[in-house]
Amino acid sequence: MSTPYQQIAIDGPAGTGKSTVAKRVAETLGYTFVDTGALYRCVALAAIEAGLSLEQAEAIGELARGARIRFGALVDGRQPVWLDDVDVTARIRERDVDTLCSPVSAIPPVRAALLDQQRGFAQAGPVVMEGRDIQTVVLPEAQVKVFLTASPGVRAQRRFDQLAPGSATLAEIEHNVRERDERDSSRELAPLRPADDAVHIDTDPLTIDQVTERIVALARERQGGSLG
Ligand code: C5P
Repeated sequence: MSTPYQQIAIDGPAGTGKSTVAKRVAETLGYTFVDTGALYRCVALAAIEAGLSLEQAEAIGELARGARIRFGALVDGRQPVWLDDVDVTARIRERDVDTLCSPVSAIPPVRAALLDQQRGFAQAGPVVMEGRDIQTVVLPEAQVKVFLTASPGVRAQRRFDQLAPGSATLAEIEHNVRERDERDSSRELAPLRPADDAVHIDTDPLTIDQVTERIVALARERQGGSLG
């Protein structure tokens, strides 16, 4: 796992602004952005399309091993995602996928299948990788580990603002966000938690730009000895 490239691991629950911040940090530093949640979303979508139920864990693991997931270049904060050559960028944000991605991500063969793929990105160049277990499992040697938090109400509102008008109520989103976090944090395998040496940032009182600046400053500070 050791690599000459700098690794920035950003974890935290849904609605902390993690994705937006991680993209901006990547753009500022010229690093590759890896949205690991999109990988789990693609597997959830593949399971839906194959008509599989959550009980069919082995079969879903098989799908995860076989899925060809590709990311395009980040342009204006948008990164296209292809699943088996189909552009699924918008589809993986829809409600059915949103609901299924957390239970799918708790399936051990799914996590095993996606682990190598995630580490592969970090071998190829400097990365900003965001998710739930990046600093604890995927890139435990990352030079920069940041754990973002925000209060539940703020997180639900941010999620609500991102969705198409009328697609869900604020109360529904808050319920979904809480449920997902509870499941992500309490699962046995790779739960959502900060690494012991993580820098914690409470994003409630900060703008996206302020959070981005802090992480970029941290990355520059720790760049000594790294080629990233
Ligand atoms: O970040 P995003 O909300 O797109 O992630 C979707 C789901 O994928 C999360 O709720 C979580 O269950 C799962 N996930 C994970 N490990 C990661 C990234 C996402 O388990 N590194």
